[in-house]
Amino acid sequence: MTTIALYRDDFYLSTAEAVVTSVHEDGAVELDQTCFYAASGGQPGDTGFFEREDGSRIQLGETRHGAAKDIILHRPLDGEPLPSVGEKLVLHVDWQRRYKLMRMHTACHLLSVVCPYPITGAAVGEDESRVDFDMSETIDKDQVTSDLMKLVGENHPVTLQWITDDELAANPGIVKSKNVRPPVGLGRVSLVCIGENSDVDSQPCGGTHVSETQEVGAIHIAKIEKKGKENRRFRIRFGTPET
Ligand SMILES: [Zn+2]
Repeated sequence: MTTIALYRDDFYLSTAEAVVTSVHEDGAVELDQTCFYAASGGQPGDTGFFEREDGSRIQLGETRHGAAKDIILHRPLDGEPLPSVGEKLVLHVDWQRRYKLMRMHTACHLLSVVCPYPITGAAVGEDESRVDFDMSETIDKDQVTSDLMKLVGENHPVTLQWITDDELAANPGIVKSKNVRPPVGLGRVSLVCIGENSDVDSQPCGGTHVSETQEVGAIHIAKIEKKGKENRRFRIRFGTPET
């Protein structure tokens, strides 16, 4: 059954009410709507808990898509009770974790501005993120960190623009990732725009991001690894570089 993905229109929604529409044999729970981000595009799914009407909690281990993109499966941790179909729940996202993922995810976009090479892979993490670029150049990681922190400090707005799948197909040049498919299949695609009039960057992406670059906070490039002749793996961490 289709789930309304509330997080698509409000990245800062950490709680919401929902009704259980289906409980699978393996324990996965479907809801009429959700603020839990389903793992996609390199960003892990949300964790957190469901609050039942009697105040008890069901702790969630993961959120991911089902066979189709409009199906969202919430999987409780092993040993947790399962809700019943028709039951009303209050959803609580583990906001500390999600907010870190939003900051990190936005940092990955900034890195793609500082390093304008095709992206071959990316994984957003709460402590460390990595972005792989198709590049053979050697680049100074401290310079990349200082360019990143300049963009953070300039506090550019981060906004969403919606375009149709057809508009995206007509403008393939706006996609920076080589192997990562843009989030098509729902009829509309969100473009993440950084800067007034997208003057810093715009990139199709279905993940969650902070609303201005200053929220990213202190980040640095911890490591640049050579993964093959034409591949460089950048590791982003929070905080200032260790000296
Ligand atoms: Zn993104």
